Amino acid sequence: MEVIADLHLHSRYSRAVSPQMVIPEIAKWAIRKGINLVGTGDWTYPLWFRELKENLEETGDGIYSIKKAVRDAFFAHERSLKTRDSASGGERRKFAQNDHFTPFFVLTTEISSIYSQGGRGHRIHNLVFAPNFEVVEEINNQLRRFGVNLLSDGRPITGLSSRQICEIVFSVDKNCLVIPAHVWTPWYSLYGSNSGFDSIKECFGEFVDQIFAVETGLSSNPAMNWRIAELDNRSIVSFSDAHSPQKLGREATIFNLDENFSYQQLRLAIINQEIVSTIEFYPEEGKYHWTGHRACQVKQSPEQTKKLGNICPVCGRKLTIGVMHRVEELASRPADFQPEKRPPFKMLVPLIEILAEVRNSSVSSQNVENEYNLITTEFGSEFNFLLKTSLKEMAKIGEERLAEAMDKVRKGDIFIDPGYDGVFGVVKIWSFDGAQDKPQKEQMALF
Ligand SMILES: [Zn+2]
Ligand SMILES: [Zn+2]
Repeated sequence: MEVIADLHLHSRYSRAVSPQMVIPEIAKWAIRKGINLVGTGDWTYPLWFRELKENLEETGDGIYSIKKAVRDAFFAHERSLKTRDSASGGERRKFAQNDHFTPFFVLTTEISSIYSQGGRGHRIHNLVFAPNFEVVEEINNQLRRFGVNLLSDGRPITGLSSRQICEIVFSVDKNCLVIPAHVWTPWYSLYGSNSGFDSIKECFGEFVDQIFAVETGLSSNPAMNWRIAELDNRSIVSFSDAHSPQKLGREATIFNLDENFSYQQLRLAIINQEIVSTIEFYPEEGKYHWTGHRACQVKQSPEQTKKLGNICPVCGRKLTIGVMHRVEELASRPADFQPEKRPPFKMLVPLIEILAEVRNSSVSSQNVENEYNLITTEFGSEFNFLLKTSLKEMAKIGEERLAEAMDKVRKGDIFIDPGYDGVFGVVKIWSFDGAQDKPQKEQMALF
């Protein structure tokens, strides 16, 4: 069966995360988005780990689902709110139908490593997947023994190197997975321009052969990663890194697994590069796509940076080197490189952003939110709508302008003002003042 997985997110115990990031809300939004396998996030955080044990039960080998009592209580409460808000009968019925579905969970966390190696400072984020609660418990004990303060944050900040993380994790259970997170962001990543490394070997040393995958992050797509030769025998996975339920699934990885799949089957699919496809943000929309300075409102394409250098013309300090430029630095292959065997990917614009533009409104407006809820209910999920619903069906329910917008999004016929130095890029479907180039042609062809 097709499993749409989002395995990087954070609980309410991580910095700058919505208090809504609790298991029942995550489950509700996963279903609304069309995600059937979701990471727990933050299992290193003691209070969250306790909540995981209270809310989840193992339904397959290493695969968890929300306990029935927890789900029933949550949806009973939700239904009472819905009724009070006098939702239509149809919506209430569909909502009730959705109560039966629950996503599966797998135990994931992210660990922040701040350390020096070879006289240079490094800051790296790594995802760690674990096969069960017992292994989590033991890894957490080991981390404490190494002096890690697990209460520092949902994503613990450690002085341990990426190698030490591997040593601890694999000594507890070799079936864990360590996946470098959002590998191109300038701060806190494997290849990051500010505090990363130039290769996996440099970062992970003797554990290089146990790094089976890297996460693209929002500012890069798989095609950018195909240019790096050392990634050839590794999976390129995409997850949301969501800090609120609404952001779940903005990137995701699709696997083909048995109906009763286990943690082990998921792990082997990642090791053996058995990925059906990935769902991507437009990388231009990511916060670090171009080079620049947020405070000085300076931004540069890789070509401009080559010409102008990386010193800010406003403040005279070093610019934050964007992901595109950093890929150019490390790539041994041209931008249009086409590998023989790589899963395809689709770049999507979040439905809420599409609706906001169709209605000439903002993503935070109540009308847009209501419409988002109606559409995801009517069509089963956001992914069902974005990926599988025909334009005819959209037009049939009187949504011609929405159908037109979806046609443009699916063809990549949109405008994007690229993100830089922590500022998200902006997508426009119809028009844009001061718009930069349209996305590259070769990326469109992949859609
Ligand atoms: Zn991170
Ligand atoms: Zn500046």
